[in-house]
Order: sequence, then structure tokens, then C-alpha cells
Amino acid sequence: MAAPVDSVAPGRPSAPRPGPVPWVAMYHSVGDCSDDPYRITVTPERLGRQLAWLCRRGLRGVSVAELLAARARGEGRGLVGLTFDDGYTDFLTGALPLLRRFRCGATLFVLPGRLGGDNAWDPLGPRKPLLTADGIRRAADGGVEIGSHGLTHVDLTRADDATLTAEVAESRARLTELTGAPVDGFCYPYGTVDARAVEAVRKAGYTYACAIDPGPLTGPHALPRAHVGQNDTALRLHLKLRLHRLRRRPVEGV
Ligand SMILES: [Zn+2]
Repeated sequence: MAAPVDSVAPGRPSAPRPGPVPWVAMYHSVGDCSDDPYRITVTPERLGRQLAWLCRRGLRGVSVAELLAARARGEGRGLVGLTFDDGYTDFLTGALPLLRRFRCGATLFVLPGRLGGDNAWDPLGPRKPLLTADGIRRAADGGVEIGSHGLTHVDLTRADDATLTAEVAESRARLTELTGAPVDGFCYPYGTVDARAVEAVRKAGYTYACAIDPGPLTGPHALPRAHVGQNDTALRLHLKLRLHRLRRRPVEGV
């Protein structure tokens, strides 16, 4: 008969078993989604229903830093990460009031090289304004974790060495100064990541980084995330969460 899977070899201490990599939801803009070619926008109504669904399931949305810290303590069951990329101004009006209402935390990945600018890197679709320094500080004052999305939204796998260093290290320095707090998290623009980008992010002092589907690079500096959009009803969210638990194996360090 096969030994039970949780048996421990005699004489060896039983280490806490890591669960599957944590589930982290990826959002971008929260507002009007009538013209949205990249499907990066959810309406506040949809976000509210998604957060209500988490609550009903006994789950709570938190920042990625809080999620990883809880898991390092052997806790974190019932927590999911909520991330918002690019730092659109609609975060303050569309997302923050709902996060407060549902007592959720979140991580906002911003672009300190485009303060007060817009999503000029997207060739199609409406221009969406990005937060100013003051807007980012308002989010931080509201309890939101501020992370770096690089300086200007560059695909790091195609960047030369000088650009890679500037995007990763200089964005961290600028955000640390802007918020007056350490910046732990990075988020790869477009979700594109390779071993060189991971190494640059680690060397710059970030403790974690978010990707989308990093495959064999999965680890603390390449966390997978699930896109959550306007079409994600309770049923679809339920399936995404189930699928994640089936697909994502435990990984050392997260
Ligand atoms: Zn982005």
C-alpha cells in the first residue's frame, strides 16, 4: 500500500507544506468600458459585484505584499491578491471607494516616468489619464500598496541594458522618494518576462514581481496573475479560481 502523501520520513522535521502559488487578480482601469479594445476596463458596478463575490466566499482581497507576508507566516488561506496596473486616475474614483467598502487592500503598479500623462504606449483606443505624483500619494494614504510598473511601460525583454536598469532601478528610487516608503513590488509591462529581466528586478531590491503567465520562471520574482475583466461573472471567477488551483503547482519561496 502506498504511504499517505502527508507522511514524514522518520527523524526529519515536518516543514510546512506550501500551497499552490497564490491567486492574484489583474485589473487595469475601472470606469466606462464602452470603447475598450484591449479589454482592460471593468465598470465600478462589475468590480463591486466581483468584490462582493469574494466576500460571499469568505475570501478577502489584499495587496500582494500583504498576501506574501501572510503566506510566509503560514497563514494566507482566504486571501487573494488584487492588483491594478498602469495607475489610471480612475483608480481613485472607480476602485478605491469599493475597496474601502469591502475592506480590501490592493497593489497599484504605477509608471513614475509618465506622471500625469496617459497610456501613450497603446496604439489603439481611448487615451486614459494616469495619476500624478499627488494622486499616487492619495492612493498610498488610502492604504494601497504602491509598486513599480517601470518608468514608461517598456517591454523589458526587448530593452537594452541601460534601459532595463533605468526602468527597473530608477523607477524604484523615484517611487521610494515619492511615497516616502520602501517599494517592494514590481510588475512587468505587458507581462513579458525573461531570466534577464527577473535578475534585474531582483538586483534592484524588489522582494517580489508580478507577471501574467511566467511558466518555468514562476517564483517570487515572476508571480502568475489572472486577468479579471468585465465579462467575469461570479461563475467565471469561480472557474478561474478552480483552474488556478489545478494548474499552479507549489513553488519554493511563495
Ligand atoms: Zn501595463
